[in-house]
This record gives sequence, structure tokens and C-alpha cells, in this order.
Amino acid sequence: MSAEDGLKKVISHAKEYGFVFPSSEIYDGLSAAYDYGQLGSELKNNLKQYWWTAMVRMNDNIVGIDAAIFMHPTTWKASGHVDAFNDPLIDNKNSKKRYRADVLIEEFIGKIESKINKDVAKGKKRFGDDFNEEEFRSTNPNVLRRQQKIDGINAKFKAAMDADDLAAVKALIEELEIACPISGSKNWTDVRQFNLMFKTELGAVSGDSGVVYLRPETAQGIFVNYLNVQKSGRMKLPFGIAQIGKAFRNEIIARQFIFRMREFEQMEMQFFVKPGTQEEWYNHWKEARKSWHASLGMGDENYRFHDHIKLAHYADAACDIEFNFPMGFKELEGIHSRTDFDLKSHEEHSGKKLRFFDPESKESFIPYVVETSIGLDRLFLAVLSNAYTEETLDSGATRTVLSIPPAIAPIKAAVLPLIKKDGLPEKAKEILDLLRINHNVQYDEKDAIGRRYRRQDAIGTPLCITVDHDSLNDNAVTVRERDGMTQERVAIADLASYVDSKVGMHTLFNK
Ligand code: ATP
Repeated sequence: MSAEDGLKKVISHAKEYGFVFPSSEIYDGLSAAYDYGQLGSELKNNLKQYWWTAMVRMNDNIVGIDAAIFMHPTTWKASGHVDAFNDPLIDNKNSKKRYRADVLIEEFIGKIESKINKDVAKGKKRFGDDFNEEEFRSTNPNVLRRQQKIDGINAKFKAAMDADDLAAVKALIEELEIACPISGSKNWTDVRQFNLMFKTELGAVSGDSGVVYLRPETAQGIFVNYLNVQKSGRMKLPFGIAQIGKAFRNEIIARQFIFRMREFEQMEMQFFVKPGTQEEWYNHWKEARKSWHASLGMGDENYRFHDHIKLAHYADAACDIEFNFPMGFKELEGIHSRTDFDLKSHEEHSGKKLRFFDPESKESFIPYVVETSIGLDRLFLAVLSNAYTEETLDSGATRTVLSIPPAIAPIKAAVLPLIKKDGLPEKAKEILDLLRINHNVQYDEKDAIGRRYRRQDAIGTPLCITVDHDSLNDNAVTVRERDGMTQERVAIADLASYVDSKVGMHTLFNK
């Protein structure tokens, strides 16, 4: 299946089964805005819960807040967003399509990288078990030549961006002979900077004095509350503040479904540390976040770190955790060592001291910050696209199954009476009531049992619990597991703990 087909299938499956709908679809939708449906919002809530539990509940020194989306406009001056939260954009004069100049260059590099990967794959095939990938990458002349080209492009791009030299960015696009994917032409406009923040007006005040922005990241809500939380929570360094909430960016190009939207949700944590210890904590959070992802069981080979070559204005180190989406490896989460940039700048702009007084050394200083920032919608897409599987069964029939990690599946178990009479529905509903206190469970009595199984497979329900005539006598049920389709007889008395052992959130933390 091609990457494009893979993504298309996920999008149509998500719509058909109530995970994600285009926003205001009856009016033909709004570009880059999506609504989460009845199953999508359950899945999203479970992802939030998994993150919040891992960050806030499992760490003594991390607390969570929920700050307002609107903030005092000076916040964004202090954070650098008014002056520097720009993307370089370029238009193709023939197709009239707009692109991010940096993305055009990254995609060009991506093509060279895939050629390298093809060379590596060929080498693997040729040398079999004797193949040493590291050695191949560092000695094969084709790979070396291509890598040198990538390094050269990266260096030129970084120099141009660091110097804010947009003419040099355009010159690089021309030098690489990058053509518009729509028109095929190389007829480009100059590169311009475009600020990504949405502006609106507060109350009845009009003109510049009433301008407020929709926050482009949740982080600043944490910074401005640093002292409130530190004082009221009597927090000592190192400590963290976590937050889940909406962020808004007027993205130049917003494509690829929920991967890049103009309204999205972030799960961010700012970890405040003593200056000088930031590198240690940066490495700590890189590993901690990688393990968190690994616990979802979506395949270690589907993640990789990507170190930033061009650091943001506030960072002294930064990397992305990339995931293998249907469109290839792309950023899922960012880990940034933000120095004391934000607190220092808020001090300057607000005139309020944002320091930590260390009772041992009797020193007062501005803490450094290491941030972990993950897009909830991107995580949702990672889970959904990784889970989507079309299988051919021994019988020749096909089944579509969403192999969502059981603990975050929208519906944990379906309770199914074998037939709609003989007291089986009543028994099934008793079981439903037993389980629904702790888990989201569903009752279904319509159609033959095989069709009901397929319906549950398609929405990723890990367990199907069937109540049959024997259940009335032996007080046991048949539990069918989604991925292996194996069946097991379980006593109703043990069912609640059985279900919990398979789908409880704690199963993610035991790994
Ligand atoms: P990109 O390079 O893809 O634009 P970014 O580096 O600007 O992303 P950050 O500012 O580091 O992103 O934001 C942290 C996280 O928020 C990202 O890792 C991503 O998961 C998520 N995110 C950022 N922009 C969007 C968006 N437009 N739609 C959905 N999620 C987003």
C-alpha cells in the first residue's frame, strides 16, 4: 500500500466509524479543522489520561495546571512570538500555491535520504547476515556522496536562516532546482516571513490596545504561573508543571489530516532546574519520553530522534521524537532545553521577579527549563495509523482490525448475548453493569455473532464477551481477544479483574 493510500484509508475509516469528522462538514468543511467523534473523543481522553498519569501522578515533583487560552498580549512580546514566530513562505507564480520554504528544502533532503535508505536496503539484501549497517553507511561511496550533499544543504540553509537572509533561502531553492509539485515550474516569488499567531480583539475595545492572540503554545501559560505554583505548592527545584490544552497556529500549509491543523491540542511539561544541570535533565527527559512511547507497544523501530540543526531563539539543545507515520518519519514530540530565556524575558517585561530562592546556598536565581511538548492530535494519528490493519484470514475472508493498545482503546469490551432471547440479554446486561463502573463497555445484540465481532474489530475493542446458554448454568462467559482471535472461558465472578488485567491503564505502567 502506498503512503498516500495508507493515509487515505485511515482517514476514511476514521470517518466511517466515528473517530474523526471534517469540521462543519455540512458546509463542505473548513480546511485544517477536524472534529473528534464519539469514539475519537474516547481515544483522545485515554491518551490524555495516559500522559497525565505518567507525568503528574507518577512524579512527586510534577504538578498540573489549566491556564486560560487568552493571555496578556505582552506575554507574546516577551516570549518572542510577536517578532519571531514566523515561517518563511514562498509562492509558485504559475500554480499560485503557497509553500513553506523550509519544508520544500526538507522534502528535497528527504528524497536524498530515501535514496540512501535504498542503497542500505540493497546492501542488506546482498550481504545478508554479514551486513554491518554502520560500516556500510560510513564507507559506501554512494552513501557518502549523498550524505555530503545533505550536509552541504543543511549548512547553507542554517547559515541563511541564522542571518535572516531570505534571499539566500530563495537562492538555495533555485540552486537545488526545486520545482512546484503542482505546476512543475521553478518560477518562485521571493521568500517572506509570515507570523503564525491568530489575532483577535478583546471585549469592546478596538484598535491595537485591545488586540489579543490565541495562544500558539501552552508553555507560556506555565511560565507566567511559575511563581504562583512554586509558592502555593511549596515546590523545590527541580520540579515540573504540566498542562494539556488547545493551541492555535495560522499554518501556511495545513495538510495531512490531523497531523498539521490550525487548532490543535498540546500536552506540555516545563521542568524547572538549577542552571548548569539542564543538559543532564535534557538527556533524562529524552529517555523518559522515549520509554513512555515504547510502553504503548507500537514498535521501537517506528521511533527515532532527530536533533535540531537550527535551534529556536530560546534553546541551547533540542530534538524531536519522530514517528513513522503513513507519510514517513515526522515530528511527534519536541524536547527542548529552553535555558532561562522565557522566565528572564517575562521578568524584564513584567518587572516582577521570577526567581527561585535556594535555602541551602542562600542564592536566588532564574531557573533553567527543559520542556517536553507533544501534539495530542499527532499522537492520535500515530496510534490510529499504526493500528489500522487489513488481514486475510485462513478462510480467505478479509478483516479490518484496529490493533489499538488495549489500555487506550475507546471501548474496552463488548458484551454480546449469543441470541436475543432465552434470558441471555438480561444476563449480558448484568455483566455490562458489573464492568461499566471501571471501563467503557458496550452492549450489542444485533446481527450474527461473527458480524458483531467484525464490528468490534473495526473500532479496536480488545475483548468481546459472549453470553451463551451455558452461561446461565455455569456462570461463565467466552472472552474473545481481538488480535489473536483466541477464546477463553472465564467465570463471571472473575470477569471484572480479568478485564482489568487486560485493558486497565496500569498495564502500560507495568512494562
Ligand atoms: P512542525 O515543525 O511540525 O511545525 P514545531 O516544531 O513547530 O512542529 P513545536 O512548536 O515543537 O512544533 O510544538 C510541539 C508539538 O506540537 C509538536 O511536536 C507537534 O506534535 C505539535 N504541533 C505543532 N504544530 C502542530 C499543528 N499545526 N497541528 C498539530 N500538532 C502540532
